[in-house]
Amino acid sequence: MAAELSRVAPAVNDWYATAARDLPWRAPDVDAWAILVSEFMLQQTQVDRVLPRWTEWMERWPTPSALAAAEPGEAVRAWGRLGYPRRALWLHRAAVEIAERHNDRVPSDVDALLALTGIGPYTARAVAAFAFGDRHPVVDTNTRRVIARLVHGRAAAGMPSPADLADMEALLPAEPVAAARFNAAAMELGATVCTARAPRCGACPVADWCEWRGAGYPDNAPAKRPRQAAFSGSDRQVRGRIMALLREATSPVDPADALAAAAEGGLREPEQARRAYDSLLADGLIVEHEGRTALPR
Ligand code: SF4
Repeated sequence: MAAELSRVAPAVNDWYATAARDLPWRAPDVDAWAILVSEFMLQQTQVDRVLPRWTEWMERWPTPSALAAAEPGEAVRAWGRLGYPRRALWLHRAAVEIAERHNDRVPSDVDALLALTGIGPYTARAVAAFAFGDRHPVVDTNTRRVIARLVHGRAAAGMPSPADLADMEALLPAEPVAAARFNAAAMELGATVCTARAPRCGACPVADWCEWRGAGYPDNAPAKRPRQAAFSGSDRQVRGRIMALLREATSPVDPADALAAAAEGGLREPEQARRAYDSLLADGLIVEHEGRTALPR
């Protein structure tokens, strides 16, 4: 495989040119703000659920200052059911910071991006690469799986580690435009061909060099991390019920109604409703004012 490393990126980029999904945030005329919003939304939500929300957001808030001028609660409301709604609050804060500190333009520098609320190393590198064409390794779950199979002959990736970036760096073309494209193309390959459950090796542009395929698909996946607790009955679900009530409400609600909404559909334990409510308050996703509960203003 070592001898083939330099052939991987050109092959994957050629494949991407014809096979990539037509996603609006990949359009050539899309600006850095639109890409940043897409990266926030895609952090923990699937593409098909993000698509309509992203389109709505960009129509409503086409610039950071447009979002910054809205109440944070409006951002939370517009987040809808994308899940993990703290991302909406963080995105709103980042919009305020970009409007105030960066003259309403998303910064291109990774350190400046990292200084914005809600932006971690992955998102900072992704925005720098996809919006500004800078050369950085960008590695998501899909890329890690492709590299695990192609380079290391393993059925699945292990826990995320700094070695992931080194692995990607070893494959990344020197030329920044090709490098940015390869970051996106490797993700796309993992999302659509080298999928976790059913890789379609017959459609894979690097099948001839794939260590895992060459070894006959050994059952050698690293030990899995403990499964996340089921969503049903979880505090996340109970929080979601309160958020759904407040997104729909046209005026602040009685806290008792919020707690009643939390309990609709059942609770694992009686104190779960109060715990969920208090955690939303602590996260700033809901506020109390004059004895009523609302989305933040
Ligand atoms: Fe994944 Fe199959 Fe391609 Fe290997 S040959 S990278 S397992 S799709």
